[in-house]
Amino acid sequence: MSESHAGYSARQNEYMSSTNNPFPRLLEPLDLGFTQIRNRLLMGSMHTGLEDIPGSHERMALFYGERARGGVGLIVTGGFMASQYCLPPGIKPVYEQQGQVQNHRKITDAVHREGGKICLQILHTGRYSRTENLIAPSPIRAPINKFVPQEATHEQILGEIEAFVQFAAFSQDAGYDGVEIMGSEGYFINEFIAARTNQRKDQWGGSYENRIRLPLEIVRRVREKTGPNFIIIFRLSMLDLVEGGSSFEEIVQLGKALCENGVSLINTGIGWHEATIPTIATKVPRAAFTWVTAQFRKHFSVPVITSNRINTPELAEEVLSRGDADMVSLARPLLADADFINKAAANRSDEINTCIGCNQACLDHIFSGQLSSCLVNPRACHEQEIVIAPAQTKKSIAVVGAGPAGLAAAITAAQRGHKVSIFDKSESIGGQFNLARRIPGKEEFAETLRYYSVQLQRLGVDIRLNSEVDSSFLNDSDFDEVIVATGIKPRTPAIDGIDHPMVVSYIDVISGKVPAGNSVAIIGAGGIGFDVAELLSHSGPAPSLDIPTFMHDWGVDMSLQARGGIEGVEPQTPPSPRDIFLCQRKAEGLGKNLGKTTGWIHRLGLIKRGVKMLAGCEYVGIDDDGLHLLVDNQPRLLEVDQVIICAGQEPLRDLLEGLQKPYHLIGGADVASELDAKRAIDQGTRLATSL
Ligand code: FAD
Ligand code: NAP
Ligand code: SF4
Repeated sequence: MSESHAGYSARQNEYMSSTNNPFPRLLEPLDLGFTQIRNRLLMGSMHTGLEDIPGSHERMALFYGERARGGVGLIVTGGFMASQYCLPPGIKPVYEQQGQVQNHRKITDAVHREGGKICLQILHTGRYSRTENLIAPSPIRAPINKFVPQEATHEQILGEIEAFVQFAAFSQDAGYDGVEIMGSEGYFINEFIAARTNQRKDQWGGSYENRIRLPLEIVRRVREKTGPNFIIIFRLSMLDLVEGGSSFEEIVQLGKALCENGVSLINTGIGWHEATIPTIATKVPRAAFTWVTAQFRKHFSVPVITSNRINTPELAEEVLSRGDADMVSLARPLLADADFINKAAANRSDEINTCIGCNQACLDHIFSGQLSSCLVNPRACHEQEIVIAPAQTKKSIAVVGAGPAGLAAAITAAQRGHKVSIFDKSESIGGQFNLARRIPGKEEFAETLRYYSVQLQRLGVDIRLNSEVDSSFLNDSDFDEVIVATGIKPRTPAIDGIDHPMVVSYIDVISGKVPAGNSVAIIGAGGIGFDVAELLSHSGPAPSLDIPTFMHDWGVDMSLQARGGIEGVEPQTPPSPRDIFLCQRKAEGLGKNLGKTTGWIHRLGLIKRGVKMLAGCEYVGIDDDGLHLLVDNQPRLLEVDQVIICAGQEPLRDLLEGLQKPYHLIGGADVASELDAKRAIDQGTRLATSL
C-alpha cells in the first residue's frame, strides 16, 4: 500500500468508526464481488482535451492522480474514440497505436498509487463524428453535425464490435480496472437502439430485439475477452429527451439483458446531444434527474449509478439514502475541487469549491477546441503550470476589492504564506457575484461566495469590509504590494434623455433598490441584459430550484409514459408577468456571444416567456412616451415605463491616482471589456502564484 493510500485509508477508518460519520452512504464501500470500490463516488467521464494533446500522459496522470488522492472511489476517463470512423483520416484509435500501453500505465499507476480505481471510456461517436468518414445505423444527418453518415454495412458493424473488444483488452493490459461503454447521449450505440436513427431492415434494425443486438453483443464479447474480474460499466440512455427515443419498458428490457450479458454497473445517461432540453447547465435544478434512475433501479440486478447536477456531498448522501441509486456520478464538481470527497469525509464540506454548472471553462472550452478547465478552479487540467508553492519571501499584501478577482488572489497568496488583507467598500464579499446570484438559474453563484468566505477565515486573511480604500491610505500603510481588484463601473451611453427618471441601472434593478416597471426596455443584450430579462420575466418560483416546475416548463413527462420522456408532451412555460423588450445595436441575432453550450438555453427560455428581442436598434431618445428607436432605420416607439441600461462596463481604478506602492491590476479594474469571472479568477490566481 502506498503512503498516500495508507493515509486515505486511515482517514476513512477514522470517519467510519467515528459516531460522527457525516456521509455514511456516500463513504460506504461498494463490493462488486471481485473488487471493492472505496466509496460511492464515481468521477464521471469528461473529455478534457488533454486526450488530444500528443504525449500528455504525464499531465493526465497528474490530473487523475490528484482526483484519486482527493478520495474519488472510481474514475472514468474522458472518452477515447473506438474506431477510425470517429477520427480524422490517418489517425488510428489509441489501442492500435504503438507504445500506448506504457503511456496509459502512467495514468493507471498514478491512480492506483492513491488507492483509486479507474476505467477507460470507449466512445463511438457515430453520426456525431466530426469527420467525413462517419458511419451510423442509417444515413440520417444529426441536426448538430454537418456531415451525413454512411449506413454501416453488416461487416462494418462486426468490425466496430471487434474494436470495442480490442479496446477493452488494451485497457486491461494498460492497468485499467475496467471500461465504460458509452451507450447514451445519442452516440453510435444509442443510434442503433432508437427508431429515430435506426431504420435498418436487417438483423441490426427493425424490432427492438434487433436494435439492441449491438450493445448486447458488445458487452457479451467484452466480458468474454476480459474475464470475470474486470469492471464493465454501461452508460444507458434512460431518458433520450428526443422524439423517436426509447420507452420505459424498452429501457428496462435492455437493462435486464445487459445484466445477463455481464455488465458490472449501469450508469445513467440523460438526453441526447441534439435534445433541446437542458440537462446539466446551472438552470437545471440540482439532482434533477435522479428520479429517472430510481425508476429503473428496481428492475436491474447490478448496482446503478445516477448523475447530472449533483454537486454537494449533502445532496449525494440524500440521493443515495433515498435509494435512487447505488453510486453517484459527479464529473464537473471534480474539476472544481479535486479534494471533494476528502473534505466531505473530514466534515469540512463547507470548504468544497462547488461547481456552479456554468459550463464556461469546461464544456464551452471543449466545444470551441480549447483545453478544459474550471471557472472556479483554474488549476483544473493546468496542474503542471499553476503550482501553489510556499513563497520564497513572505510579503504583506493588500488586496483592494473582494470580487472574484480579488478573492482568488487573496486566498492563493495566503495559501503561499503571504500576510494578506482584503478590503471592500461594501458590506459583504463577492463584488458582482452578489448580483449574479439573484438571477433565476444562477443561485449556485452563492456557493462560490461561501467557499471564498470559508477559505478567507481558514487562511487567516484580514478581512476589512465597509472599507473604501484610497491611495493615500495605501501610501501610508506598511503593505509591500497592492493588488488592485476594484472591478468596474457601468457604462452610461450618450442617449438623449438618459437622465429621465424612467432610466435606471441594472444594478438598482437586480439589487431590488428600484422596483421593476410593468413594461421595460433593456438597452444592451450582453450577458447582463439577458440576465435582467431573465430576472424580470419570471413570476412564480424559479424552475432552477424546483424539479417538477422545471420538468413542466420544459415538457418532460415525470410519469415516464412518454417515449423518450417527451413525445406528445407540450412545454408549459408561464408567460412573463411584464412586457420586456431586449435591444441591441448590432444587426445580428441576440445572444451570439453567450456561452457556447448555454446561450441557446438563455435565448430559448426568454422567447418561451415572450420577451421581445430587437436587433439593429439606434437609440434616438427617451421621454415620457418611452424609448424612441430606429430599428433597421424605421422609427419605432417602445411605450415602456422603465428603461434599464445594460450597456457594458468600464474599468474602475481611480485608486491608481497618486498610488506610490508597487501594484498589480486584475479583473475588471484591468480590462473591463469581455470580462467574466473566468478571467477574473484565473488572473487573480495566476498573479498570486507569482508574488
Ligand atoms: P467585481 O466583481 O466588480 O468586484 C470589485 C469589488 O471591488 C467590488 O466588491 C467593489 O465593492 C470593490 N471596490 C471597488 N472600489 C473599491 C475601493 N476603492 N475600495 C474598496 N473596495 C472597492 N461572469 C461570469 O463569468 N459568468 C456569469 O454567468 C456572470 N453573470 C453575471 C451576472 C450579473 C448580473 C453580473 C452583474 C455579472 C455577471 N458576471 C458573470 C460577471 C462577473 O461577476 C464579473 O466578471 C466579475 O465579478 C468581475 O470580478 P472583479 O473581481 O474584477 O470585479
Ligand atoms: P457586454 O457583454 O459587453 O454587453 C454590453 C451590451 O451593451 C451589448 O449588447 C452591446 O451591444 C451594448 N452596448 C455597448 N456599448 C453601448 C453603448 N454605448 N450604447 C448602447 N449599447 C451599448 O457587457 P455586460 O452585459 O455588461 O456584461 C459584462 C460582462 O459580464 C460580460 O463581459 C460577460 O462576459 C459577463 N457576463 C457573463 C454572463 C454569462 O452568462 N456568461 C452573464 C452576465 C455577464 P451593441 O453594441 O450591439 O448594442
Ligand atoms: Fe463547473 Fe463551471 Fe467549473 Fe465547469 S467551469 S466545472 S460548470 S464551475
